[in-house]
Amino acid sequence: MLHPNRNHSILDQCPVCDGGHHDLWQEKNDYAIVRCRDCNFVFSRDYPNFDFLSRRYSKSYSKDAENFTPKGGIGRSLKYRILTRWLQKFFPEKESPIRLLEIGCGQGDLLKSVHNNPRFAAQGLDYGKRRVQYAREIGLDAREGDIESQGFADNTFDLVVALHVIEHVHDLHSTIAEIRRVLKPGGLFFAVCPCVTHFKARLAGERWKYLGPPGHLWYFSPRTFSRLVRRIGFETLSTSCFYHRAHVRILAKKTDAPQPGSRQPASPLDRHSSIPNLGLEKK
Ligand SMILES: [Zn+2]
Repeated sequence: MLHPNRNHSILDQCPVCDGGHHDLWQEKNDYAIVRCRDCNFVFSRDYPNFDFLSRRYSKSYSKDAENFTPKGGIGRSLKYRILTRWLQKFFPEKESPIRLLEIGCGQGDLLKSVHNNPRFAAQGLDYGKRRVQYAREIGLDAREGDIESQGFADNTFDLVVALHVIEHVHDLHSTIAEIRRVLKPGGLFFAVCPCVTHFKARLAGERWKYLGPPGHLWYFSPRTFSRLVRRIGFETLSTSCFYHRAHVRILAKKTDAPQPGSRQPASPLDRHSSIPNLGLEKK
């Protein structure tokens, strides 16, 4: 095992419950991936520092820019149209446009889907310079960077969407707290991530396609994702992982106050499934 080294430290404390005891779950790319004994959250115990991750993503996005060609197809646009229709159902009474922020917007599929819908006013963020450039070329409001770097005012958005993003972020708590800060009171957070408790993940073990630090540091189940966001100041409205794709989907509502450090029981809504199976994956 290569870690810790100058680019890595050891993450002893579970980011979801602060528990200090875990068992080795898998090893991949010389990283130890562990499961918390208290809450079952799975995470990379070998924790890269921010500069190391930034350098790595910077190289990867440079390569991506050289080879970028926009992805298309009717199936792709249909998936985002279904998502748009589903999301707007949560704002039935709203007369002013739903202010939507997508973090990790890629080439702008969701932004494009809502672009001509008067019920939305949307903007997106992505690290991929070429993808952002493309999104802007087709008339979308996309910016380069992450949510922490934008300086958005408090209570700006009605809805923040993160599709296959949260498993990559360096600091889970700070990113989700920032999402909460920029949401209006009662605003919604919708996220999709790989689901570590899906049968495909269990069967595949170390060959699971989503297993791979340092790109993927955090491995959620509906229960652990729900527990984390509740701790940071959200109420879980629904979670699911019932379909052929091994994805957790979570919809959460900003509550009045975060509850740092509190340990809460798992929500009975963890097994509730009302979220469509969209198979959203941009990368
Ligand atoms: Zn834990």
